[in-house]
Amino acid sequence: MSFSSRISLGRAHLLASTVAREARRAGLPFDELHHVGGLRRFAPELEDVALLVIAPESKHAQVLKGFTTLSIVTTTSATSSRARSLTTERGALTLHLATPESAGSALAWHTGADDHLALLRAKAVDHGLAFDSPALLRGRTVVECRTEAHFYELLGLPHIPPELRHGTDEIDAALRERLPRLVYESDIRGDLHVHSSWSDGRDSLEDMVGAAQQLGYEYVAITDHSERAAASRTLAVADVARQKAEIESLRLRVVGIQILHGVEVDIMPDGSLDFDDSLLQDLDIVLASLHDEAGQDGASLTGRYLRAMHHPLVNVITHPANRSPARSSGYDLDFARLFDAAVSTGTAMEIDGAPGHLDMDGSVARLAALAGVTLTVSSDAHRAEWLGRQMGFGTGTARRGWVEPRHVLNARGVDEVRAFVARKRARM
Ligand SMILES: [Zn+2]
Ligand SMILES: [Zn+2]
Repeated sequence: MSFSSRISLGRAHLLASTVAREARRAGLPFDELHHVGGLRRFAPELEDVALLVIAPESKHAQVLKGFTTLSIVTTTSATSSRARSLTTERGALTLHLATPESAGSALAWHTGADDHLALLRAKAVDHGLAFDSPALLRGRTVVECRTEAHFYELLGLPHIPPELRHGTDEIDAALRERLPRLVYESDIRGDLHVHSSWSDGRDSLEDMVGAAQQLGYEYVAITDHSERAAASRTLAVADVARQKAEIESLRLRVVGIQILHGVEVDIMPDGSLDFDDSLLQDLDIVLASLHDEAGQDGASLTGRYLRAMHHPLVNVITHPANRSPARSSGYDLDFARLFDAAVSTGTAMEIDGAPGHLDMDGSVARLAALAGVTLTVSSDAHRAEWLGRQMGFGTGTARRGWVEPRHVLNARGVDEVRAFVARKRARM
């Protein structure tokens, strides 16, 4: 499958959520409605967008008909007696149906991934069952499993979170009771990467702080782009002092949240930073990143990051691969060397929740955590309304990498964030 025929997680999520919202508003007679497939596993790019509807058999016809009449749906076609393909003005979507008695196995079946299902099929056979369809069978009889947890239990397993279902070692880990205690949005205490209208963000600094407050965060770092970043609007050197004055006046008015003044500074071709040290050391936190289109070889890109990490004022490397799901796979980096340097220099590395990044992801994030790298999970939001949504994608992406709260800097209080910055600066 080529990149162009895939849909990014951000677009898929918007489509599925819109259809689900319309279906709920229309009062269709279903019990449950779930995001399934890659969407539920937080896959950065998907081959198709799918929803699973749970309803009694007697209501299936009515539910299907209801979906075809939603205003967002333009055409529908039957793919089987228990699935419909819906076309909407925002893209295509597959709707699956199951009964409450088989809800648990159907949810697992439609969530995948294929390699995980293959392992589950083998487990089913071990227990005298067959899992070759959304229903779990013993002989020709459907085995009732109303929840996914019950389905896994019938296979002799604890419930495995969807983000871990890659078909690698998650079943092994489950059997040895070694599943991670994954990071969720409720563990996040602040956002260390947001943009305001001082650079290419849409909303004012005050709106971004307000959105962070709404989410119950204890702190938020305003991190606009440095002067020479490849962004539509950037922060000029002279803007930094004016932005600082705005933050200081906001700190007097806004209570209950700490506002950190930061920057997302570009790493120049020689590995130096876009802003001078004298300017950076006045800030509370410094993120550093590459925004160049691919085109440089992996070794030079790795070298630029390494030099930036050794800079005592650089605290976080953001979206390291600079990939763009469904469009480009990003830089070809020597991650092992980056992880070593991150640990030895006290630099954090980011899991960026912007749908245009979702980076680091999966196996890369998992290796980072294993190597002992301190991680941040950020929204990289450019609009106030995206703060929560993109932190959701960020934590989902982190879970794909088995990331736990103990790995994540912004699952800690603001004093620990400040101490993390201070420790590295003390080496200057
Ligand atoms: Zn960036
Ligand atoms: Zn950014």
